[in-house]
Amino acid sequence: MSKSFNMNDFNHIPYLYWVFTHVCNDHCDHCYNDSGPQGDRLTDEECLAIIKNLPPVIDRLMLSGGEPLALRKQLYLIVDTLREKYDKESTKLTIQTNGDLLNEKKLDTLIEKGVNHIGIASIDRYHKNKGERKELLEELFQSRGMETFSPDEKEMEGLSDEAVMAIHQQFEDENTLTYGFMGANEDFWLGGNWARGRAYENDLWMQDHTHNFCAMHSGAKGFLGGKDNVQEISYSTMESKPVLPGYKGAHGRCPHRKSGRYHAAGFEIRDFSKIE
Ligand code: SF4
Repeated sequence: MSKSFNMNDFNHIPYLYWVFTHVCNDHCDHCYNDSGPQGDRLTDEECLAIIKNLPPVIDRLMLSGGEPLALRKQLYLIVDTLREKYDKESTKLTIQTNGDLLNEKKLDTLIEKGVNHIGIASIDRYHKNKGERKELLEELFQSRGMETFSPDEKEMEGLSDEAVMAIHQQFEDENTLTYGFMGANEDFWLGGNWARGRAYENDLWMQDHTHNFCAMHSGAKGFLGGKDNVQEISYSTMESKPVLPGYKGAHGRCPHRKSGRYHAAGFEIRDFSKIE
């Protein structure tokens, strides 16, 4: 499904990660975007303005938070509007959720509205439910015929992270409805230099400046390097950023400008080598 990538094509984003709200039913100590019940939120009009400014081609779009289902009506409005603009075959739409508020009715609604993938990102010891809903959610997904990526470990042996990710993405491309589980651990989210927000304030990160976030796919691999690597763009409510945790300040305000490829000029990046 992935289209060939051209750095100079401002009408094509391979991957957009949009934290459309910081409202969340939980208030985790390790939350890196300061989400919680009183978190920042956008108005419906702001969400619609952001969608209007998105480019005509997006391969993958993930809606996250905060907790997307904590603002269910706004989530449905966003999904409906995105699906008016992007069809299901061309744009894979993922909801990243902690899963606490997900039930049969909400899952059916999301499927009906054209969501392709549900990612449960709370299977760890830091979230309120500490992964206890995993079994129940798995049964729910399977009852709707959803598939999950479960690689044969022997086949994956020796493959680079990039190769595994390519196989994973191919799996999601070939299956219309998929789900997955993940959580915070020392390698992911708590590791290296991911920390922002409460994770930073509460010192819940590994402070490992050798951890090269920029070389990871979800760390905007290829960012600033150009070439043909897929780049991931991140929107945090209405600020646009490359996915880079040390990134200070926004690149732009999404409702007020067209999205496009992002360049190094004007970016201020924290120097992690100086953190003790
Ligand atoms: S880590 Fe996730 S579930 Fe926890 S407060 Fe932040 S957004 Fe909510």
